[in-house]
Amino acid sequence: MNDCIFCRIIAGEAPATILYADEQVTAFYDIHPITPVHILVVPNRHIESVNEVEEEDAKLLGHLVVVARHLAIANGLERRGYRLVINTGPDAGQSVFHLHLHLIGGRSMPFRFQ
Ligand code: IMP
Repeated sequence: MNDCIFCRIIAGEAPATILYADEQVTAFYDIHPITPVHILVVPNRHIESVNEVEEEDAKLLGHLVVVARHLAIANGLERRGYRLVINTGPDAGQSVFHLHLHLIGGRSMPFRFQ
């Protein structure tokens, strides 16, 4: 049994509000939002973190960003701005070891990193 929560969401085996899905990526609301808009964009293939990314994944990671951009526009963030964040490893606070891009916005985020 796959114990990765994001793999289970992608497979439809765990609940989530799916905002976008195609053959490469799935996007859904973060269960503990830190900003008014907090969406996770996730590759459908299980990649633990950026540490496991290879050259052949470059197109997939580019697609993650393009999907995040469309979701930012759809959520009215384009003009106000937003952050795209990929936490990698323990010091960065990565808690789910299935690579994911956080799209956060909808309020001012005054510090560069917080
Ligand atoms: P990380 O700390 O960068 O690894 O981010 C993991 C994110 O996944 C956190 O913001 C969690 O709130 C979120 N998360 C964990 N489990 C679920 C879930 O079942 N659905 C949606 N988001 C989740």
